[in-house]
Amino acid sequence: MLNLVLFGPPGAGKGTQSQKLIEKYGLIHLSTGDLLRSEITQGTPLGLEAKKLMDQGVLVPDEVVIGMISTKLDANKDAKGFIFDGFPRTVAQAEALDSLLEAKKAPIAGMIALEVTDAELEHRLLLRGKDSGRPDDANPEVIRKRVKEYNDKTAPVAGYYKSQHKFNSINGMGTIEEIFHSIEEIIKGYLQ
Ligand code: ADP
Repeated sequence: MLNLVLFGPPGAGKGTQSQKLIEKYGLIHLSTGDLLRSEITQGTPLGLEAKKLMDQGVLVPDEVVIGMISTKLDANKDAKGFIFDGFPRTVAQAEALDSLLEAKKAPIAGMIALEVTDAELEHRLLLRGKDSGRPDDANPEVIRKRVKEYNDKTAPVAGYYKSQHKFNSINGMGTIEEIFHSIEEIIKGYLQ
């Protein structure tokens, strides 16, 4: 089993690269952002609560996303592996993920962090906001709040994986293909 965490600030390109990774390696993509948006679309109580927070650019509670991930892991028992995208976003989530995977005897192989400048991130998110229909992408104030949440609560998650010697950083500023190539180089190491 190959379990990877794709890491980076909002707009770093995690979703785009995840799409290419699932095609090439047959992994299952678990994006907590997508799972939450699906709850919103279905109008569930969880979705209604989450929407209030997401529209402000703040994180939803750890137990909510950990519960969603746990359900998805149980529902995909025969998976070749998972790409975690947008999760873990706090150190508490990273610890919970380790416990969930310990039960499966399939730990995280590594974290791959996409490095992108702040100016490029804001530019990409505003561009995406024009046609994604995501309210949190359309408003510069909400974007700045998300970047602040990232710096305060999510950036420390890199340290968590560094201390386990599982951290890899790549340049997220090239073309989609160039970035994918850098990710593949890291994955090759894990598949050997
Ligand atoms: P982006 O990476 O572009 O910010 P996501 O789709 O990953 O987009 O997340 C959108 C919003 O969903 C976040 O701003 C946050 O409110 C919520 N969210 C997603 N994943 C998590 C998570 N693991 N923990 C807490 N909140 C989350």
